[in-house]
Formats: sequence, structure tokens, C-alpha cells
Amino acid sequence: MRIFYVSSEVVPFAKTGGLADVAGALPKALKNIGHDVRVFMPRYKMVDPDKYELKKILPQIYEGKIPGTDVTVYFFDDPLFFGERDGLYQLQGSDYPDNLERFSAFCRAAIPLLKELNWRPDIIHANDWQSALVIALLKKLYKDDPFFNRTAAVYSIHNMAYLGLFPKEKLLFTGLGWDLFKPSGLEYWGEIALTKAGFIFADVINTVSENYAKEIQTHEYGAGLDGLLRSRSSDVYGIINGLDYEIWNPATDQNIIKRYSPATIFLKSENKIELQRRNKLPENKEVPVIGLVTRLADQKGFDILSDALEEILSHNCQMIILGTGDLKYHKLLTAEQKKYPSKLAVNLGFDAMLAELIYAGADMFMMPSRYEPCGLGQLISFKYGTIPIVRRTGGLADTVGDFDPRVGKGEGFVFEKYSASALAEAVGRAIGVYQQKELWETLQKRVMKLDYSWDASAKKYIGLYLKALKNIGISPL
Ligand code: ADP
Repeated sequence: MRIFYVSSEVVPFAKTGGLADVAGALPKALKNIGHDVRVFMPRYKMVDPDKYELKKILPQIYEGKIPGTDVTVYFFDDPLFFGERDGLYQLQGSDYPDNLERFSAFCRAAIPLLKELNWRPDIIHANDWQSALVIALLKKLYKDDPFFNRTAAVYSIHNMAYLGLFPKEKLLFTGLGWDLFKPSGLEYWGEIALTKAGFIFADVINTVSENYAKEIQTHEYGAGLDGLLRSRSSDVYGIINGLDYEIWNPATDQNIIKRYSPATIFLKSENKIELQRRNKLPENKEVPVIGLVTRLADQKGFDILSDALEEILSHNCQMIILGTGDLKYHKLLTAEQKKYPSKLAVNLGFDAMLAELIYAGADMFMMPSRYEPCGLGQLISFKYGTIPIVRRTGGLADTVGDFDPRVGKGEGFVFEKYSASALAEAVGRAIGVYQQKELWETLQKRVMKLDYSWDASAKKYIGLYLKALKNIGISPL
């Protein structure tokens, strides 16, 4: 199958969150099972053509490979919109004011590129609002173009809350017409929501866990589009994300101090000492360390965490946070750190290497999310023998069962209610089990052996692509 995969971020070129991990790994997994996948993304400033050995193949297009793979990536090169800016979507916590113009230009370049290459994909797979327009353009502007008469469109939503909202006056930049300024088009309460370009026009809609696929069809999680999604519910699917174990593996990770596997789990604590040292916390192998690596956004639970901190830190434990995002959380966390200098360390920024040391060095990994489409942190933690403490929502509910010491079942510590006391209670239970060394080690070894590699999910994506083709009347087999 030929698959054109469109994403605004792709590991290792550019990343702000989980979408980049998926976009770097799923195409690779699809390639490994014999499909011709090509990726399309913007060439941001951090994507250095020399470093990645890119070559210019068209005036606005660079071509390269995902490092270590044979997956072709095409980069949309526009100096003003992308090539000369430091951020992907924001600068110092504020969105670029011309994000609609930027991502419209990116999306509008996609289909002409395919024609220029004379490469007809079976599937165009777009992700989140930044690339959703490609689907609407395909279905509106190119609907009678025979070049695409066997091409189906798939839209994946990685986070319902990011709608791509812009003032309606900007509509024409998208390349679409005013006929789409209506509720069954891009209109959203008087504005335009670019994500609707995917939801309305895709042949199949998909999200990153089965549970989240159900949740987004409810009022609570649907961001105002739950009615639309319910009306398309026979086309809405959920496939859990995998992990790229060539990147996330404590046995081979070059960014940690001491590599280890289930058989050498006792070496993990050397990473803990290094993590404590770098964070200027007392170096002590016995004290449980709770890590967090996250975008600092409302979704991630910092309101309940800040209310729970006093109780959590009343235990003999340490917390190490790495995150960047909303300024209000930067301020909040800086203030909290001052209150608990010997127990809480806060690193404000995006730091892939420190992230890996936290996954390796911490004993527990906390995700008190209000909602969580899939969540990768808990899956990465499993592999590093770091036990997740999570709220039962979205993909966290699909992947982490509550640990029951009596029967030895469950992969972490789970709480239900979105409240500080429920979170603190789960932390208390985790610390209780941590003190029972053998029990803890058995749990660690068990979660390290869980398999969240992409192989199984990639096969499910092929099934999804076949459904999309069927929806346009094509049965390729
Ligand atoms: P989301 O996509 O909502 O950000 P996920 O859990 O799906 O959440 O994915 C987050 C990914 O981004 C993980 O790979 C995580 O390690 C990484 N990450 C998040 N914040 C940072 C940060 N400040 N520094 C380094 N890596 C980060």
C-alpha cells in the first residue's frame, strides 16, 4: 500500500509531544511490514539540511530519510513561515499569530507535491489540526481529479482539545471557499476550526486509544464536536500507540548513566543517584523518587498536583519535574520548588536527554491527567521499570491497571476521581508497596516485559486503511 503520512512534528526532526513520537515510529513500522510510506512535514529552523543530509528536489521541497530507516520524508520549505522561526507553534508560550496562514501554506503544498512526484497514494493520513486541511482540499478541490480517484483519507486526532481555532476572516487562506463556512463545514461558533477539515471529510477517523475513541463522543471530552463524532460513530476507531524500542530501551539508551534490563535491574539505582545529583537533591538510593515529564498544560493535572504536594512531600520521597508550556505553571512550579528545596526539583524546558534520565532514574512516574488520549509516559516508564501513578482516563485507563498486592495483578497505581486527595492517596499506596522491596521488584520486572512495540498497532493501521478504501468503494485485495 502507498501511504502519505502528514504531520506537523516528527521525531527526531521536531517534537513538542506525543504526536512526534508516533509520526517518527508508525511510518517506520509500516515500512517494515512492506508498505511504501512517505512522510510530509514543515522544515523548521531546527531541521538542519546538512545535519540530516537533505536534498532540495523542488523549489519548496527538501527530501530526506528518517535517520536509521528507509522512510522518505518530504519537507515543506518556507523560510518566512517555518525556516526562520525558533518554535513550532509558539514563541515563549504564545501562539504565532499567523498559524493559520502557516499551516494552510503547508497543507496546500501537499497535493501538488504528490502530482509533481507522480506518486499516487492509496491513503492520505493527516494528523491533528495542523494537517487536517489536506483532507478537505483533497475532497473538495481535487474531488474530480482522476489522479486521486483511488485515494482515501484518514484523519487521526491525538488531542481533541486542540481545535485549530481562527477568526473566520482568514478562511480564504485555507484554499477553501465560503461555502464551507457552515456547521457541516469548518464553522465553529462563529469561528473556523481547522480540525473539522479532518472530521468532516475523512473517510475514516481514528484516535490513539480505544477508550479515548469512546470518550471523544461524549460531551465531557468532545470539545463541542461530540455530536459530529457521534453522527459518524461507525467511522470512528481507536488504536493504541506503540513505542519505538530502538529509542526507548534502558538496555541500549545512550543518554543514561547505567544501562540495565530486567535481569540487571539493580543497576537502575545508579541512574537515580545521577538524577538526584543533577537536580541537587540529597543522593540516596532508598528514598523513592517520583518523576514527571510533561507539557505544562491544563490537561496534565497540575492543579490537583499543586494541591496535593504538601501531603505527597510529607512522605519521605522526592519529586523531579521536567516540563514546559503555559507560563502560569512555570510560575506555580517555581514557587513550589522554593517551598520544598530538598524534596522537589523543577526543570523548566524541553530536554530529551534529561527526560530519558528521569524515566531511568525515577522509581515512579506520575500522570495525574484530567484527560489523556493515549499517553506515552506510562508506556515508556514500563520499559524502564518505573511504576506509573495515573488517573483512570483515556489511554491511561487502557494501559495501566491498579496494582493489587494480594494477587500480583496491575501495572501501576491508579486513581479515579480528579482530586488532590485521590492523587495523594495513590502516591501513598505506591510508597507503601515501594517499601516492600521484593514485591516492588517483581512488579518492576513484570512491567518491563510488557510489549508496546509498534508491530501490533501498525497492523491495525493497515486494517484501518482498508476500511477507508472500502468507504470509497475500493477493495484492494
Ligand atoms: P502529549 O502528546 O500530550 O504531550 P504524551 O504522553 O503522548 O503526551 O507524549 C509526550 C512525549 O513528549 C513523551 O515522549 C515525553 O517524554 C515527551 N516530553 C514531554 N515534555 C517533555 C519535555 N519537557 N522534555 C522532553 N520530553 C518531553
